[in-house]
Amino acid sequence: MAGRIRDSDIAQVRERNRIDDVVGEYVALRRAGGGALKGLCPFHEEKTPSMNVRATHGTFHCFGCGEGGDVIKFIMQIEHLPFVEAVERLADRIGLQLTYEGGGRDVRRENRGTRLRLVEAHKAAQAFYAEQLATPEAEAARTFLKERGFDQPRRRSSAAGSRPAAGTSSPSTC
Ligand code: ZN
Repeated sequence: MAGRIRDSDIAQVRERNRIDDVVGEYVALRRAGGGALKGLCPFHEEKTPSMNVRATHGTFHCFGCGEGGDVIKFIMQIEHLPFVEAVERLADRIGLQLTYEGGGRDVRRENRGTRLRLVEAHKAAQAFYAEQLATPEAEAARTFLKERGFDQPRRRSSAAGSRPAAGTSSPSTC
């Protein structure tokens, strides 16, 4: 069904989202010795902390309820997300653009990728456009856009071209 997220991207998501930071956004963590951190488990009711986070291993484990895994698993569990969405959430957190392999990407994910690409393209193009807008050609472009009816929203743009003229082919709509 959906395209697979590239393995190297998943590895990066795991690596760059420090589990102590991510868990720390949900749970107050304290040093527990041996480089581990400890906090109240968010997955079961408890009064004394039994969830350990080992940043060096990139893992968490609760000795109370047995919940455990890596940073992706933590987000899946705490946000009730499927694997792919947990990875996407963590990728956003570190500003990583995911690459999907294989066909059959679903529309929502496609849109998301497009949005991210647009954001990046926009950033990359900013300098270019700033430059372009200072040229006389930009003035012409602005006039052109105005003529396209941005100040006259009700007018049908003739540039739409392929659409039939209003009234000629839609007698029964409205
Ligand atoms: Zn627990």
